[in-house]
Amino acid sequence: MKYHHGKNVSLSVYPNNRIILRSPRRISQKFILEFLDERKSWVREQYLKNLSQNPKKTDFQENEILPIFGKNRKIIFSKTENSEITPESIILNVKGLRSEKGRVLRAKNLLRQEIEKQARPLILKYCSKIGTTKYSLNVKTMRSLWGSCSPKNKITLNLALIFCPEFVFEYVIVHEVSHTKERNHSKKFWEVLSSLYPNYLKAERWIKENGKKVLCYLY
Ligand SMILES: [Zn+2]
Repeated sequence: MKYHHGKNVSLSVYPNNRIILRSPRRISQKFILEFLDERKSWVREQYLKNLSQNPKKTDFQENEILPIFGKNRKIIFSKTENSEITPESIILNVKGLRSEKGRVLRAKNLLRQEIEKQARPLILKYCSKIGTTKYSLNVKTMRSLWGSCSPKNKITLNLALIFCPEFVFEYVIVHEVSHTKERNHSKKFWEVLSSLYPNYLKAERWIKENGKKVLCYLY
């Protein structure tokens, strides 16, 4: 439950089944209980729909399967091999790990490194096409953005992009690279973008249809 300064009480069920009730402080408990009671079956419906359609948040268990750039790969624990993403699997070195938190951290680091490895040549390619010479790259988990580009051309990519197909990954990179020339989503921006990546609508459609699901792996 969250208090807010708005006038209304609202209830949201997110794709990862986080359920949040927002209310102004002055609303009585009685009102809230009635409000919830009226929406019980709706919440249940949303909850079950999410449960059946969306992936659960990963804690990187052994043998768990994750789609890496759109291709399913199984997590394999190893105490001798280095952590690595191969065409078939996600090898996770678990030597010295004592907690689930440590494992999740190590796995996320591996995913971050993989994104950086794949993103760098693409950023270089598209930046040189439009003459951008100064930029930097950052990868982190974000709830609502797939990428961003700061005024100093710091390109930030969402870690969840690792669970998207390659054409979507490439699109988000081209989108952010285009922002190094055009900061806003102006007509000129879309011209730059479509000259670099003509098939961008396909990627946008994919994100619209699947983006929220993919985020459930991390949230
Ligand atoms: Zn943008």
